[in-house]
Amino acid sequence: MKKEETTLEGCPYDNLIELLCLDVNLSEGEKRKARVHLQQCARCRKKYQELEGIYKHLNEQVNKPVTNKALDLAKKIRDKETKYGLVVCEPLKTDKKPTALPYKTKVLFTANGTGAGKDSKLADFDPRSLPKDSIAIRAMTDKACDKLLLYLWHEDGDNIDGWELQLPGKSKTAVFSRAGVSQIPLMEIEDLGDKVIYFKEKQKKATASENRYECIFKSISSL
Ligand SMILES: [Zn+2]
Repeated sequence: MKKEETTLEGCPYDNLIELLCLDVNLSEGEKRKARVHLQQCARCRKKYQELEGIYKHLNEQVNKPVTNKALDLAKKIRDKETKYGLVVCEPLKTDKKPTALPYKTKVLFTANGTGAGKDSKLADFDPRSLPKDSIAIRAMTDKACDKLLLYLWHEDGDNIDGWELQLPGKSKTAVFSRAGVSQIPLMEIEDLGDKVIYFKEKQKKATASENRYECIFKSISSL
């Protein structure tokens, strides 16, 4: 077989190699063609390895839960109007086997809001000090978009993808991304306290696995 020409202008397989990395709907035939080409073309092999590294890293990063430090920083660089806070949800006992589990909420602190803890930082809180089985919601206002951004924290952090939060009142529902991010219409963080709310785990149904491109795209668009 003739060796593929590789010049500075690139290789005719460039696009195919990138699609292979993103795992986007290539047919089996196209995948085979791309893999065979990778064995023959050093240039594409190099590109493939570089892209693999980048997309793998990107995919891991966008699906990681947001840290308290990152939220503290976000609060700092946003305008002074931005409020944020920490709401702890403790599980309530229930005899029934409900599809959505009830939790009682308590606002631990808000900053730029009211209360004694208004100068606190999220990083000052040790999530391990929270009661067992509790779920923490870090909330931040986004006035520009009229949203309250919610960042979930749970011990079993790998498992919060697709969790649904049901708040009382105007039937507000938030569905969380793999990174535990969601949003609801703008409201006061203090009003999230002293409520019974419900968390529903994702229904485990056999869905076709997402390709890498869909994973990255979904995570980014949920931010
Ligand atoms: Zn090539």
